[in-house]
Amino acid sequence: MERDGSTRDASQRAEKVGSDREGMELALAEARAALALDEVPVGAVVVLDGTVIARGHNRTRSDCDPTAHAEVLALRRAAAVVGAQRLVGATVYTTVEPCFMCAGALSHARVARVVWAVRDPKFGGAVSLGSVLSDPRMNHRCQTAEGECADEVRALMRGFFEDKRRKARENMNTPDLS
Ligand SMILES: [Zn+2]
Repeated sequence: MERDGSTRDASQRAEKVGSDREGMELALAEARAALALDEVPVGAVVVLDGTVIARGHNRTRSDCDPTAHAEVLALRRAAAVVGAQRLVGATVYTTVEPCFMCAGALSHARVARVVWAVRDPKFGGAVSLGSVLSDPRMNHRCQTAEGECADEVRALMRGFFEDKRRKARENMNTPDLS
């Protein structure tokens, strides 16, 4: 684990991505890194010319930053790697449908394609509650795809929130002796 919270090891350096499955599996690895921090497990990677150039996972609690979503962190790192504010031609894999903020950032970055595993009916800004990536009035539109690794992502998210609910119940049932 790097100081900025990104994961990196020998197998992750300049990793090639040949399919949506491979890209999403790397995003899933980032989501698991978020889970290890007790963060909502969402991960994202940015792929340019078939190579992973940046990764990110949700760090909103760790960083006390409501904008520290996986996609935003990955986009910031990718832009730093490229040395430009735009990531023309890039594909972003994210485990969960981007929220409005992240969809906006992906659009600002001029990302070519966005792939997510599962929809987010409560925050999703790409298809669930809005169409930030595809609205014809937008200056830039991204190609989109969804469903890759959906079962794995759903299980990860469900496990996280069930664990949270179980712990909340346990706390309620613990007599307050103070
Ligand atoms: Zn977001």
